[in-house]
Amino acid sequence: MGVILTGDRPTGKLHLGHYVGSLKRRVELQNSGEFEDIYIMIADAQALTDNAGDINKVRNNISEVALDYMACGLDPNKAVIFIQSQIPELCELSFYYMNLVTVSRLQRNPTVKNEIQMRGFKQSIPVGFFTYPISQAADITAFKADIVPVGEDQLPMIEQTRDIVRTFNSLYKPVLVEPSAVLPNNSVCARLPGLDGAAKMSKSLGNCIYLADSSNDIKKKVQSMFTDPTHLRVEDPGHVENNPVFIYLDAFCKDEHFAEFLPSYQNLDELKAHYQRGGLGDGTVKKFLNEILQNELAPVREKREYLAKDVGAIFDILKKGSEKAESVAAKTLDEVKSAMGINYFAK
Ligand code: ATP
Ligand code: MG
Repeated sequence: MGVILTGDRPTGKLHLGHYVGSLKRRVELQNSGEFEDIYIMIADAQALTDNAGDINKVRNNISEVALDYMACGLDPNKAVIFIQSQIPELCELSFYYMNLVTVSRLQRNPTVKNEIQMRGFKQSIPVGFFTYPISQAADITAFKADIVPVGEDQLPMIEQTRDIVRTFNSLYKPVLVEPSAVLPNNSVCARLPGLDGAAKMSKSLGNCIYLADSSNDIKKKVQSMFTDPTHLRVEDPGHVENNPVFIYLDAFCKDEHFAEFLPSYQNLDELKAHYQRGGLGDGTVKKFLNEILQNELAPVREKREYLAKDVGAIFDILKKGSEKAESVAAKTLDEVKSAMGINYFAK
């Protein structure tokens, strides 16, 4: 029996990258019944580290992310869904962990380095943003999570958390648990590229298909997707590597989809082979991808629309979840302070 913690920044609605990279896996793990506790965190405090001037964006996306969760099958009766900023214990833990990490260690974090570049911070990196891997270590360890289902970009954060846990446990007392990341089984799902071919579909880059997108939006977005720039005429040989249309097919396509939507092929290998030797147009492949995505996302969107009719009920769930999460984090904080010997007034 293990404990799971994972979450998302409320910087926008959730997209296909979240869906294949983490959400689907969470729902499977939740329904396996094999875990003692599952915590799903809406990381609003982390979202503020690079959105301090845009509180409304973060505020407004809290219920959007919660709706995405529940539309995909996360169940508040089986998982504790909570809001990070409502658990002040997480800040306190971060504050103590900051003493266990060097500036140069943070500077080496490849995901943070990349995000700093993407956001164009140059010399104006907010301190909170720079240190968010430490706050993430607080989030994970507060719940003694040992399993963290995430996309590939999060591996350096889990490594940082493990370092903090080892340092804490050896300096003080062994009260913290070392977590492991769980990546999706299908490696293309660990980092789904953007519609524009950028390395990662990301809310901050605006190159996403959102779970809430209408059927028409999905169609238009698929039609506008970047493909192989050397595949100019239908008869030209095409490349499937680094071609987001084929990468999405790798992530979503099953053999049954051919029988249903494109019966002239048996499977994805046959379709790829045809594209590579030439004679297969991007339009046909995109049309097929569109059918698959429509089929997968329609039930999620319908459930989302239904749940969105009662946002009050969503906030009730988040409030209850936050209360439960706080009681667990408070217990860990007590253990941490007593391990450090700073529980001066404890009896
Ligand atoms: P932001 O641009 O604000 O950072 P994001 O799109 O990167 O947003 P996060 O909330 O930072 O989304 O990430 C939440 C989870 O989703 C993480 O586990 C992350 O690894 C995973 N994830 C995000 N984007 C992708 C992607 N394109 N492919 C696979 N997993 C992803
Ligand atoms: Mg991110």
